[in-house]
Amino acid sequence: MSNPVLTVGSLFAAPGEKRYGVNEFPVQGRPYRLPMWLVNGRAEGPTLVVTAGVHAAEYASIAAALDLGRALDPATLRGRVIVVPVMNVPAFTARAIYVCPLDGKNLNRVFPGDAGGTASEQLAGWVFQHVIAQGQYYVDLHGGDLNEALVPFTIFFRAGNRQVDEVSLEMAKVFGIHYLVSSETPGSAFSAAARAGIPAILAEAGGQGIWTPEDIAAHTNGLGRLMRHLGMIGGAAPEPVPFTLLKQFLWLRSDHDGFWYPDVAVGAAVRAGQDLGHVKDEEGHVLQTAVSPADGRVLFIVSSLAMNRTDPLLAVGA
Ligand SMILES: [Zn+2]
Repeated sequence: MSNPVLTVGSLFAAPGEKRYGVNEFPVQGRPYRLPMWLVNGRAEGPTLVVTAGVHAAEYASIAAALDLGRALDPATLRGRVIVVPVMNVPAFTARAIYVCPLDGKNLNRVFPGDAGGTASEQLAGWVFQHVIAQGQYYVDLHGGDLNEALVPFTIFFRAGNRQVDEVSLEMAKVFGIHYLVSSETPGSAFSAAARAGIPAILAEAGGQGIWTPEDIAAHTNGLGRLMRHLGMIGGAAPEPVPFTLLKQFLWLRSDHDGFWYPDVAVGAAVRAGQDLGHVKDEEGHVLQTAVSPADGRVLFIVSSLAMNRTDPLLAVGA
């Protein structure tokens, strides 16, 4: 038995073939060009979808997806892999944080998309239908944005389908990052996939516009561990890694435009009621004190002095 031909839009790869190419489709009436690898293993196995660059300045995750696409070998692969290294191409070109410059929307809040919607909604709709929906397993790679520091963590979402939820948790454990977070980010690609019955995780490593070997390795090691676990590549089953499961992902946001002075470092253990930082005005008046809503761990923290109303300040995993 061999895998069927792998087809995404106008690109295809027969069993034993690897194709890099660009799919072109209309977004707001203009051609959108989305690069990707289609890798169809000589031997039969599951289909894994890997995306990065939903947030296009999260460079460690993008570098890891590029490394994966370049390295995959269809001669030794069991199963099929689709790799989209930079989904939000306009944001990558613009070095934009959070949102797509075409419509000012956060691409990871509009999945599974809408063919009749704004640019981000149309893009999400095409990718969900043509790429993510083909996966039996889905991994979306992220990290801190240009203005965010974070400790690596992996998010999964319990969508209420026990079989899917168990596999998502297993994928999160196998990926090998210490902190696991059980959370839904509404409109995110991974939670939309989980709702559609596709086990999925979102892995976070990297931040602040840099891509260190350690942060890239957090992603590439995780992908290698997962593919060994799924029997897609050779090598021993991955050793279990101790993990901490955080059941709440609590975001604190700014109520003001101003200047952000955090009082804690990323990764710090914090207590409920603890002062985590202040938003101040030019003269130093405190406009807002960020108070920890629970005992937990600071998972990410905005590292820019510039702060805008409704922007995140930090998040605590509890
Ligand atoms: Zn992200």
